[in-house]
Amino acid sequence: MAQAVPFFEQVNRYFDRAADLLDYPPGLLPQIKACNAVYHVGFPLQRDDGSIEVIHAWRAHHSHHKLPVKGGFRLTSHASEDEVTALAALMTYKCALVNVPYGGAKGAIRIEKDDYSDAELERIIRRYTFELVRINCIGPGLDVPAPDMAVGQREISWMLDTYSALSHGEVSGMACVTGKPVSQGGVRGRVEATGRGVFFAIREAMSRADDMKRLGLSTGVEGKRVVVQGLGNVGYHAAKFLAEAGAVIVGVLEREGAIYDPGGFDVEKIDGHRREGGSLLELDAPEKLSGSDGSRGLEWDCDILVPAALEGVIHTGNAGKIQAKVIAEGANGPTTPDADQVLNERGILQIPDLYANAGGVTVSYFEWVKNLSHVRFGRMDRRFRASNRAQMMNAVESLVGQAFPEGLFDEVAVGASEADLVNSGLEETMIEGYEEIHRISREYETDLRTAGFVNAIQKVATAYQERGIFP
Ligand code: NAD
Repeated sequence: MAQAVPFFEQVNRYFDRAADLLDYPPGLLPQIKACNAVYHVGFPLQRDDGSIEVIHAWRAHHSHHKLPVKGGFRLTSHASEDEVTALAALMTYKCALVNVPYGGAKGAIRIEKDDYSDAELERIIRRYTFELVRINCIGPGLDVPAPDMAVGQREISWMLDTYSALSHGEVSGMACVTGKPVSQGGVRGRVEATGRGVFFAIREAMSRADDMKRLGLSTGVEGKRVVVQGLGNVGYHAAKFLAEAGAVIVGVLEREGAIYDPGGFDVEKIDGHRREGGSLLELDAPEKLSGSDGSRGLEWDCDILVPAALEGVIHTGNAGKIQAKVIAEGANGPTTPDADQVLNERGILQIPDLYANAGGVTVSYFEWVKNLSHVRFGRMDRRFRASNRAQMMNAVESLVGQAFPEGLFDEVAVGASEADLVNSGLEETMIEGYEEIHRISREYETDLRTAGFVNAIQKVATAYQERGIFP
């Protein structure tokens, strides 16, 4: 997507807006804003037909104020140094905002995944990992990649396997990457974490009666009409959890076009159809847009818009036409700063990317902690807590001389599983994050995005100041 303003500059505009509200010694804010390092590698790929192609790939370390650095890597045909740098910067601010102890990083390989066979993709990912090892850009204490666009558990497994082969039995080597399958050290709940986090973010924002009143909406997610752009990992899971909470998915936008039905869609049905190779446009819907016209679906009538595909999709060309009252940024950088201003002036509530999609890195952090501790969450205390609760309930029954109603005993006398603990930790993180940015937005009389940057800058600044690097 052609962008008038480079992506990193866009992130820095948001940064500057927040920095204008803060007072720090000279040099500190430029140090936080600067990207510490960007690595570009070019390596040969032997294609299945024997021809050789040079593959370009990047890894950006935006901030080393905390180690390891953390961030996903993506496979896209538009990958560039500017894009990874901007995304790495967003990771720094996102991790700070949700109190995840990492510096920000991001990686990308410039390929269109569908143009390569599985065997070619495996060679590309393994070689990329090898290059990352060579430049010290992967390792549990250095840099921990994770999934981003067009990257899933399979690609992460190739990365882990390549790193393990090169790291000679490093005891915590599994923590070199997150988003792994559970069988290989992954954590339950990581696949759906970003979408679940987007859902929690929306739920929190929509629970504030005064904010909803200003938008002319009732509180709560139930019955709200949602348009989602991108039915990939983030968009599908966000739509799924919103629908489970009673929201109505009225519009879906994908590569091939967009469909709209005020009566709502069954997300599982759409996802199943697309997974089998079908197109959105083959499904029954009163309104359809095909090809690149699909992006006009962002302007459809709805309460909540969830852009969960690409950056820069909300720009000055469409910001004035968006009908949603709440925009929850599942994608990174979906809104340009000029569009952001238009949306703010129009009173639309924007739940910014650096908070809204932080669920992924939050659960990646849990996976990393699990790998370093070499024990599944809940393994040590689940049984203990279950029997402890049973003892207490037995004691209550004998004290009051009455048994608990049937089924209740078994429901309450349980300990938490890994999935319970991960989801609870994610929910707590998203609630706490919203409370922080909401409070700052009130204190500084600003929007949630600027509040998010204020929050992140304050935390990164503290990290520098407490190490004595700045007064
Ligand atoms: P994904 O590859 O699983 O899904 C992206 C979806 O967008 C795909 O279904 C793709 O077909 C669709 N898409 C591509 N071009 C489109 C277009 N022009 N119009 C509509 N849809 C289009 O990727 P993902 O992991 O879901 O990432 C999506 C966004 O969320 C990215 O901005 C990514 O950086 C961000 N994000 C992802 C995670 C994560 O954990 N995966 C975490 C935080 C942020």
